[in-house]
Amino acid sequence: MKDISTRGMNTKIIHAGQHIDPATGAVATPIYQTSTFAFRDADHGAACFGGEPGYKYTRLGNPTTEALEKNIAELEGGIGGLGAATGMAAVNMVYLTFLGVDTHIVATESLYGPSRMILENEYPRFGVESSFVDSTNPENVAAAMKPNTKLVYVETPANPTLKLTDIAACAEIAHAGGALLVVDNTFASPYLQNPLEMGADIVLHSMTKFINGHTDVVAGMVVAKDADVLARLRAVHYNIGGTMDPHQAWLVLRGVKSLGLRMDRAMENAMKLAKFLENHPKVEWIRYPGLESHPQYELGKKQMRGPGAVFSFGVKGGLEAGKTLINSCEVPALAVSLGGIESLIEHPASMTHAGIPKAERLAADITDDLVRIAVGCESYEDIEADMAQALDRI
Ligand SMILES: *Cc1c(COP(=O)(O)O)cnc(C)c1O
Repeated sequence: MKDISTRGMNTKIIHAGQHIDPATGAVATPIYQTSTFAFRDADHGAACFGGEPGYKYTRLGNPTTEALEKNIAELEGGIGGLGAATGMAAVNMVYLTFLGVDTHIVATESLYGPSRMILENEYPRFGVESSFVDSTNPENVAAAMKPNTKLVYVETPANPTLKLTDIAACAEIAHAGGALLVVDNTFASPYLQNPLEMGADIVLHSMTKFINGHTDVVAGMVVAKDADVLARLRAVHYNIGGTMDPHQAWLVLRGVKSLGLRMDRAMENAMKLAKFLENHPKVEWIRYPGLESHPQYELGKKQMRGPGAVFSFGVKGGLEAGKTLINSCEVPALAVSLGGIESLIEHPASMTHAGIPKAERLAADITDDLVRIAVGCESYEDIEADMAQALDRI
C-alpha cells in the first residue's frame, strides 16, 4: 500500500510492513523458515556483508521478521524496529547497548519485575549504577540525574501499579542531561500511546502481551526514533543473539492484525468492570487510568488514546481475602501475563514481583493486597457475574 504513513491507525495495523508476495501473489506474509540465504555469486556475498541490502543469515535479518519490524516501527512512528526473542531480550538489548562501567540509569521504581531485577542483580557486575524513583513526579527523575546518566527508563502505565509517567516531561529531563529516554509501552500498546511522538528516543514492547494478543507466543520489539540509535542497537542485538525466529514473527504478524478490535473490546469490558468494582462494598481501592479516581486521570487523557485493559485493586481483608477472590474466579485464569484475548488475574507480591525485596516492593506501592486483572474480550455479563460471585465468597 502506498503512503502508509498518512493512513489511519487500523489501516496501519493491518497493512504496514506487508506486501503482496511478488512471486506467488500470497496476501499473508510467507514464513521464510530458513537459517541462511544463498548468494548469487562471491561478489554478491561480499557486498551483502559489506553493508548492501540483502539477507545473509536469519540472526542478521529475515524477511518475515522484517515485515513485523516494519509494521511495529510504523505504528510507533520510528525509523525501524528490531524483533527480539522475548520482551526481556528487548529490554536487555537496550541496557547492554547503552550501559557499561561507570554509567548510571534512572528508572521507574514500579517496573516490570525482571526489568528491575536484572539492574539490581546483574548489571552492578558491569559497573552500572541504578536509581529507582517514583516517576509519577518528573521532579524525582530530574533529582536523580547524574553526569554519567545514559538512560532514563520509564514504564507507563507501570506494572502492576498502573501509575503513569509524563513522557514529554521525562524526555526533556533526559535530553537536558545528555541521556536517552526509553519507554516500555507494553501496557498501552502502540494503539493507545506513541512515546516517540512525545520525545522518547526508544520504545520497547513485550509483544507477548497486547500486540500478539493470543497468549501463545513470547516475543519482544525495540523501535528507535533515529538511525544512529537504531544502528547501535542493531550492532549489539545481532551479535548477542536474542533475535526472533521467523515462525514466531509470523504468529505475531497474525496476532497484531486484530490489535485495534481486541483493544477496543477489552477496554470496554475493563471500564465496565472497573466501575462495578469501584462501587462494590468489598473493594478497598482500585487504580485504573480510565476512572476519574486515578490520581493521574488527566495525564492519561493527555498522552493516551484510551486507558488500556489492565488494572489493579485491593479487597477489604488484605492478602487472605485477595487469595480467596483469585481462587474463586472462573472466567479469568489465575495466571501471570496480560494483554491476551482472555482475562487473566494474578497476585504480584507473591508471583511476578516476588523477586523484589519486600521493603522496596512496598515503597513502590506493590502492596500485599494488590490484585492485578487483565480484562479480556469475553461477554461482559460473564466477567461481572463471575467477579460478583468471587467477591461474595470473601
Ligand atoms: C511481560 C513484560 C515484559 C517482559 O516480556 P517477556 O515477553 O515476558 O519477556 C516487559 N515489560 C512489561 C511491561 C511486561 O508486561
